Amino acid sequence: MPSDRAPAFAVWLTGLPASGKSTVARALAAELAGKGIRAAVLESDAVRREITPRPKYDGEEREAFYATLAYLARVLVLHGVPVIVDATANLRAYRDRARDAIPRFLEVHVRCPLAVCRARDPKGIYRRGAEGTAKDVPGVSAPYEPPERPALSLDTASQDVEACVRAILRVLSDRLQ
Ligand code: ADP
Repeated sequence: MPSDRAPAFAVWLTGLPASGKSTVARALAAELAGKGIRAAVLESDAVRREITPRPKYDGEEREAFYATLAYLARVLVLHGVPVIVDATANLRAYRDRARDAIPRFLEVHVRCPLAVCRARDPKGIYRRGAEGTAKDVPGVSAPYEPPERPALSLDTASQDVEACVRAILRVLSDRLQ
C-alpha cells in the first residue's frame, strides 16, 4: 500500500458516461484519506467548468482539454500529490498521451454495459443526448475506445463500489511497491 512517503501516482478512471467513474473516484479518495494519503481528484466535469465553461466537445477542444488534464495530473504527481483522474477521455490516444507524460500512471477501465449506463444516467447525459441538447455522447454519438491493456478492469454492473475500491487498492499496492 502506498504510504505518505511513497512516490505519488495517478489513477485514471475511464469509462462510458454513468459507468461509475465519479462514484468510484470519490470512494477511492475517501479510502485513501483514511490511510493518510490525500489524493487530489481531477474530475473532468469540474475542470471543464473552469477552462471551457461553454464546452463544444469537438475533437480540437477534447484534444486540448485532455492534454491540459494530463498536464495538471503530471504536475501534481511530480510534486508528490497522488491524483485520481475521473475522465472518460473517449479516445485511446488521449490516455496514451497521459500515460507517456505521467509517472506511475495506472489506467483503470470502469466497465459497465451501455444499457445499464443509460438506465442509471445520474447526470442526464444520455437523456440530453436523445433530446438533442447534448452532442457527441461517448458510446452513442461519439466513439468510446476502451483501453486495450488497462492496469485494471472493473465491472460496476456486478461489483459494488467497495469491491471496486478494494481492487484498485490491490493494484496500487502490487504495482507501486
Ligand atoms: P460517471 O462518473 O462514470 O459518469 P457516476 O459515478 O456519476 O458515473 O454515476 C454512476 C451511477 O451508478 C451512480 O448513480 C452510482 O450510484 C451507480 N452505481 C451503481 N453501482 C456502482 C458501482 N459499482 N460503481 C460505481 N457506481 C455505481
